[in-house]
Amino acid sequence: MIDSEVIIVGGGPAGSSCAWVLKQHGIQAIILDKKVFPRHKTCAGWITPRVLKDLEVVQDEYPYGLLTFKRLNFHLYGMNIPVKTIQYSIRRYEFDYWLVKRAGVPIKEHVVGDIQRVRDYYIIDDMFRCKYLVGAGGTNCPVYRTFFRGFYPRSKGKLIIAMEEEFKYDYKDADCHLWFFENKLSGYSWYVPKEHGFVNVGIGGKLQSMSSRGKAIQTHWDYFVRKLEGLSLVKNHRFNPYTYSYYLRQNRVKGRVHNAFIVGDAVGLATLDMGEGIGPSIQSGILAARSIITGERYSLKSVAEYSLPRILLRKGSRPRY
Ligand SMILES: Cc1cc2nc3c(=O)[nH]c(=O)nc-3n(C[C@H](O)[C@H](O)[C@H](O)COP(=O)(O)OP(=O)(O)OC[C@H]3O[C@@H](n4cnc5c(N)ncnc54)[C@H](O)[C@@H]3O)c2cc1C
Repeated sequence: MIDSEVIIVGGGPAGSSCAWVLKQHGIQAIILDKKVFPRHKTCAGWITPRVLKDLEVVQDEYPYGLLTFKRLNFHLYGMNIPVKTIQYSIRRYEFDYWLVKRAGVPIKEHVVGDIQRVRDYYIIDDMFRCKYLVGAGGTNCPVYRTFFRGFYPRSKGKLIIAMEEEFKYDYKDADCHLWFFENKLSGYSWYVPKEHGFVNVGIGGKLQSMSSRGKAIQTHWDYFVRKLEGLSLVKNHRFNPYTYSYYLRQNRVKGRVHNAFIVGDAVGLATLDMGEGIGPSIQSGILAARSIITGERYSLKSVAEYSLPRILLRKGSRPRY
């Protein structure tokens, strides 16, 4: 049996930021992840300045590709609305690997299946034992499944289904483009260039809304790919996309039962307007660590619900999932 004060299931941004804070405070923690890092993660890889701030990263210190956007191009009902801002793109393959290494705690390859609560401890697959358990395993997190799903089911109406592909591409347009509600998609599609000649393109929308209109995500994807070709943003590429789902911010966010915590996508925290999940995952990972360190209540109230400034949301154009 391997003992640790804290075991974190999942080494994505939620799990690694939790581990990073625990390590800084001398609390023993290990991460269990079913994959070996660096690993693929389906994600556009757009991050905000707040992400860097929360992680205490100075841009120049990040050793991998980080592309800065000085504006985002919102496309809404045929209009192009360039919005001045500072935003970034990273590759999750690199970013998550760097974060998990920086956290400085042991990471073990293990697919977590069975979790039992025995007196004051959690026993995982009869192999690992801890006092505090952090579920950072994303949408299908086993900690959520075991201790939270029965009491706090996530709302199916907020389930986003997304398709994306990231590939090496000699792009000509280094701006980020976002198309809202195209072809009646209840969500948006994106073109996100990356440093060192990569690009990520994808679409995401509410599964329930797609199903009620009898439209599969593949139909939206095919439309989008034709659009990229038509705009000459991506030409002559043989697409081979990934599909993944995750939850937008839930109405009731309950993150702790006894000494089991859930963070990031396991809770369902992506922002209601843009489906931004990396920032809220990091914020929740840090909050869970602080709660373990100080014994204070674990509250997710301070985790941002929206990505866009409220002023923008109040004005007529209201991109929202
Ligand atoms: C197509 C797409 C595009 C997106 N684009 C953006 C974007 O541009 N910007 C943004 O902010 N957000 C985006 N998101 C959302 C963002 O990717 C997630 O919100 C974020 O990755 C959540 O982080 P996490 O640490 O909670 O989970 P994850 O990053 O999913 O990490 C979970 C980890 O748990 C591990 N795991 C799972 N099950 C087990 C198990 N049983 N045992 C052991 N380990 C396990 C996994 O291997 C994984 O490493 C996007 C999502 C999708 C699907």
